[in-house]
Amino acid sequence: MDLGLKDKPVVVTGGSSGIGLETARLLLDEGARVAICARGAERLERVADELRDKHGKDRVLARPVNVLVEEEVTAFAADVQETFGGAVALINNAGQGRVSTFAETTDDAWREELELKYFSQIRPVRAFQAMLKASGEGAIVATNSLLALQPEPHMVCTSSARAGIQNLLKSLARELAPEIRVNSILVGLIDSNQWQRRFEAREDQSQSREDWYAQLAKTKNIPLGRLGDPAEAARLLAFLASPAASFITGAQVEISGGISRFI
Ligand code: NDP
Repeated sequence: MDLGLKDKPVVVTGGSSGIGLETARLLLDEGARVAICARGAERLERVADELRDKHGKDRVLARPVNVLVEEEVTAFAADVQETFGGAVALINNAGQGRVSTFAETTDDAWREELELKYFSQIRPVRAFQAMLKASGEGAIVATNSLLALQPEPHMVCTSSARAGIQNLLKSLARELAPEIRVNSILVGLIDSNQWQRRFEAREDQSQSREDWYAQLAKTKNIPLGRLGDPAEAARLLAFLASPAASFITGAQVEISGGISRFI
């Protein structure tokens, strides 16, 4: 299937690692031009160089940006406009989860988490909206979590914030139609830096990576018996962002190896 992304500019937030990086790789393989951002400049430049070596200097734009800081996101959008002349898709992927129960979550932690989840959508959508609209085939895709629909008590504020985001995205799908489609993916457990960090902080430091991940998949009761690969999430993000998904908006697609317990 041709995704219809040849030479089209696509923006991926949180593109220096995990799901975002695999999405950038896939989009470039599909012939798109890609703008990525993340806070950590060193890792971002390292991966951007790797992408430029493979696909060409003029196809990759990388900027250190915190998606929560308005001026930085606005400047990033201006760079994308100047370099690529616009963008057809925005993949709002930057972020991370917070592990804490209700008892452990302070007011400040609540505020921080709500700010991260909401403004990592709000600021890029505001900054790129005009460009997406002008492209005539604009799309926004958010990387969200299955926690939005199936909360976990040990990730209470992340679960709650993620549910709010689904609500916001549904409103955006109405308000931005017909010029911009808005969809989301609901991720279960995908093997990325987030899980690598948790593996490194494991209680039993003698446990191998393979055993730790196998045990995690078992404990989490994942029917497909493993965590997902970032490249698997990337394929779904790229499809929803592309003209191949031209009649899909307001949708949420689960990618979890079958972990959900609802219909
Ligand atoms: P990674 O930690 O591998 O990647 C996260 C990326 O986001 C990095 O590039 C990071 O770079 C960037 N980032 C984080 N915060 C900001 C910020 N404020 N501004 C700009 N960039 C930022 O994790 P994943 O690939 O797993 O995560 C991708 C998305 O998927 C996240 O939103 C995550 O919450 C979500 N998700 C992942 C799950 C999983 O199992 N992996 C489960 C559910 C949801 P830097 O730190 O340098 O800014």
